[in-house]
Amino acid sequence: MVDVQNRKIPVRMCTGCGEQKPKKELVRVVKSPEGEISLDLTGKKSGRGAYVCRNVDCLKKARKARRLERAFSCQIPEEVYDRMEEEMQKGE
Ligand SMILES: [Zn+2]
Repeated sequence: MVDVQNRKIPVRMCTGCGEQKPKKELVRVVKSPEGEISLDLTGKKSGRGAYVCRNVDCLKKARKARRLERAFSCQIPEEVYDRMEEEMQKGE
């Protein structure tokens, strides 16, 4: 088991399940300066980020609870969620 209390490992909270996990186990969801929401599977996109576990279930939980909307303080269209879920499934 990974010791997430170890301060040398950067941890972030998943917006789906709310668990703290090492950054590399999470996927960043990014809001670009243009206001576009997308998954940052390469870790190279710029913009404001929120984190979600690398699985579709957590993305769906975040979607249902509207936590990403809250994190980015904006509306996220259904098709954007659909696209992210599709991408996440492909990336698994
Ligand atoms: Zn999660």
